[in-house]
This record gives sequence, structure tokens and C-alpha cells, in this order.
Amino acid sequence: MSEDCIFCKIINGEIPSTVVYEDDQVLAFNDIDPQAPVHVVIIPKEHYESILSVPAGDDIISHIHTVANRLVLKLGIADSGFRLVNNCGADGGQTVPHLHYHLLGGRSMQWPPG
Ligand code: 5GP
Repeated sequence: MSEDCIFCKIINGEIPSTVVYEDDQVLAFNDIDPQAPVHVVIIPKEHYESILSVPAGDDIISHIHTVANRLVLKLGIADSGFRLVNNCGADGGQTVPHLHYHLLGGRSMQWPPG
């Protein structure tokens, strides 16, 4: 838990969110500024600043991918396709320094990203 972290505040309920999945390790909620019809943010409950802060051997990334797989089925985007994105650091476009993955779907995506 990091005191000034927006996502830690979402985890502890200080900031409201629309939760679509929760277990003891992760929380998934709708993005406040959706970039697609489905735009869910999946975060670990433990505060890691970015993917670079996750210790070797920690299974949180694997668990987040398992949760994403469950969510694409639940949200009806498994067949049409989706994008699972981790932005890391300034050049990667990370604006919230709490590890998170974006799950985007419900529209056709372009590549490369901007
Ligand atoms: P990043 O740019 O760090 O990869 O992604 C951060 C994401 O968090 C952005 O898509 C942004 O819209 C979302 N976000 C930031 N603050 C809040 C908030 O208070 N509530 C919710 N639901 N999403 C937020």
C-alpha cells in the first residue's frame, strides 16, 4: 500500500470504481476514461510501481493474465479479439505508478500504437 497512490485508494475504497472482478491478489475495474467499449484496468492489490518492480518468481503477472482470460469470456470479447497492454515508464505511456494492465476490446484496434 502506497499512501499517495490512486490505485491503492481504489483498492481500499477511498476512490469509487466499478469493479468487474476481485480476488485476494487482484482488482479489475472499468477505466474512468475508456478508450474502447470494453476498457478494464487490472491491478495487483500489492503496490508495485511498475512491471520492473515485480520480484523474480512472483506469480502476479501470470495471475493477471489468468484473470484477463476469465474476463474476456465474461465480457464477451474472446471471439472477436482484444488487447492486453502494460504501459511501463514515461516513454511507455504509464501515468499511474502502480502496476496495471489495460484490457481493451469491443472495437477493431490499430497497430502500431501512437
Ligand atoms: P496508464 O496511462 O498509467 O497506462 O493508465 C492509467 C489508466 O488509469 C488510464 O487509462 C486512466 O484513465 C485510468 N485512471 C486514472 N485514474 C483513475 C481513476 O481514478 N479511476 C479509474 N477507474 N481509472 C483511472
